[in-house]
Amino acid sequence: MRQVIIIGSGPAGYTAAIYAARANLEPLVVASSVEAGGELMNTTEVENFPGFPEGIQGPELMEKMQKQAERFGAEVLYDDVVELDVEGPVKRVVLGSGATHEASSIIFATGSAYRKLGLEGEDRLSGHGVSWCATCDGFFFRDRVIAVVGGGDSAMEEATFLTKFASKVYIIHRKDTLRASKIMQERAFANDKIEFVWNSEVADVLGEAAVTGVTLRSTVDGSTRDLAIDGLFVAIGNDPRTHLVHDKLELTPEGTIRVDGRSSRTSAPGVFAAGDVIDPTYRQAATAAASGTVAALDAEHYLAALAQLTDAGGGQAAA
Ligand code: NDP
Repeated sequence: MRQVIIIGSGPAGYTAAIYAARANLEPLVVASSVEAGGELMNTTEVENFPGFPEGIQGPELMEKMQKQAERFGAEVLYDDVVELDVEGPVKRVVLGSGATHEASSIIFATGSAYRKLGLEGEDRLSGHGVSWCATCDGFFFRDRVIAVVGGGDSAMEEATFLTKFASKVYIIHRKDTLRASKIMQERAFANDKIEFVWNSEVADVLGEAAVTGVTLRSTVDGSTRDLAIDGLFVAIGNDPRTHLVHDKLELTPEGTIRVDGRSSRTSAPGVFAAGDVIDPTYRQAATAAASGTVAALDAEHYLAALAQLTDAGGGQAAA
């Protein structure tokens, strides 16, 4: 049986792995089969992670975090958790491969998933002009006209990045002011290839085999019009990935996993949570890394208390 299994491999998961490995807990990291490295794998330049004054590419940063964790003995598995049993002192994790792993503690750092518009055409044309990842798919839109939906930092970043390829990029936003940070807004406003479509939401995605346009609905008067585009990038935020623990751990009204104060302790003893999955507000790589640190330290204390209890002849879990 393991001491700790870490589920997730973004900045929270790998930072937890670095700390747990350096504490000789020999953590197993279940990194996911297709989304290993988390959201930063879909990012280009990361300019706000401390220690990289020139910036660093998202995937390179994640590779470095993984290497750092492995250097101290973390084992990384590219598999998905399909079932989780968090009750009692022995936690069980069942993987897509069928393998079962047991541990005394779990650190849950599954991050968040792209939010969808919820339109039929969005699903139907996913991969045929509808995308959630500019860095993955931007290249396919050389000299094309595309639109990005959203008014946050992600939408600004994606739109600015996409101007490298596209001839024109619309940013469709449901309000007339942006949620994005000032610096990201200014970059988008200064870009000649970007045109803002304010007070508008996407009512329909048009096209048979590929995207040919969108129907826009005014959020002011409800009127509709079609806009011809070749691609649609959806950048409207993320939702915490909690489907594995819905009925097992307490959640907050925002849908994140509830933790005890500034700790990473969830409602199940021995289960700790870190990163975007507990954070509806800040959701930065640096805050996720800090959160992973907290989780590893909490797990370490829990395991030490558990060992003391066991030595003293008690079998019950610590706090
Ligand atoms: P946000 O939640 O910040 O923004 C989401 C945007 O999408 C909002 O403008 C919101 O509109 C809009 N939106 C939400 N739902 C819908 C919908 N159904 N239809 C239309 N529009 C919708 O998410 P982001 O992904 O942009 O950012 C998340 C976090 O990551 C933030 O903390 C951000 O700062 C950070 N980030 C930082 C980056 C950087 O610093 N380089 C890059 C990318 C993200 P409304 O404003 O009306 O609510």
